[in-house]
Amino acid sequence: LAGLMGATLMLSACGSSDSGNDGSDSKGDAGKIGVILPDTKSSVRWESADRPALEKAFKEAGVEYEIQNAEGDADKMATIADSMIADGVTVLAIVNLDSDSGASIEEKAAQQGVKTIDYDRLTLGGSADYYVSFDNTKVGELQGQGLEQCLGDKDANVIYLNGSPTDNNATLFSEGAHSVLDKNTKYKNVGEQAVPDWDNEQAVTIFEQLYTKVDGDVQGVYAANDGLAGSVISILQKNGQAGKVPVTGQDATVEGLQNILKGDQCMSVYKSATQEAGALAKAAIALAKGDKAETNGTTEDSEGKREVPSILLTPQSITKDNVKDVVDDGGVSKDDLCANDFAKLC
Ligand code: BGC
Repeated sequence: LAGLMGATLMLSACGSSDSGNDGSDSKGDAGKIGVILPDTKSSVRWESADRPALEKAFKEAGVEYEIQNAEGDADKMATIADSMIADGVTVLAIVNLDSDSGASIEEKAAQQGVKTIDYDRLTLGGSADYYVSFDNTKVGELQGQGLEQCLGDKDANVIYLNGSPTDNNATLFSEGAHSVLDKNTKYKNVGEQAVPDWDNEQAVTIFEQLYTKVDGDVQGVYAANDGLAGSVISILQKNGQAGKVPVTGQDATVEGLQNILKGDQCMSVYKSATQEAGALAKAAIALAKGDKAETNGTTEDSEGKREVPSILLTPQSITKDNVKDVVDDGGVSKDDLCANDFAKLC
């Protein structure tokens, strides 16, 4: 058994780590950049969109880099951070699994003279030099507006399935959505819960409980991302309601976009990984060279009581009408989206 476990571990280590250097010495002064992605389960985006976009951005910039995935384990993320620092990274970017563990990683890095960047998720009480993300309140607003559009002008009981309570983004998404939906007096909040670690399997159980509690008298569902939307749709399907009850999403994943094409999902939010990874690479390289990065605002860290210099990008709402935009932008490949049964819907 021990031998087998060793083999599995080795395999997963190979699959989750990657490093590269295109050999360009002229930019050697940019040092080495480390990125730690959070997991493989909360969204397919981290491995399917972010990793390739980051690799591309670093390769194009000609800097040395290392990308690893903490696989949902905060201790593992801390260990990876230590090993990257020992390995000589000068800038470390993390997508935290929770603010406390993220803040300790950043503190330890700073003590060793390593600069840090929060990638996508803000570490509350952290010490990152920069924050690179999308306007996440805007993401929530787009979700709220999307659901409103799908519901049309009718009375509706709405269930809210929020993202992980340890993810500051999940708070912002939910606030953004509520800021739109709470204004509409036709909508009634009939159940709301956060999904630990954005876990899709737990989401099925949580949603089914909320749904049963109101005897299925639900006309709209706010789901914080495409993975959670998939969990919701599976329960709606079981009850013959898929396609009848609009569900929101986020990340413009292949599955999410296919659910939109089928009519089971109302909308998604596209956040270009190329843009986000490109912004991270640019900021990281500036830091590594001892320069300042170009920012377009600051983000309040309510816990650390500080304003974090930020690069915040603009998210795009996706409905049936503009799924093609994601393909045209390279967010998903047409082959993946239009495979098998979806060919006729593409
Ligand atoms: C990201 C989302 C993602 C979620 C789950 C959030 O912090 O902004 O894009 O779906 O985490 O990984």
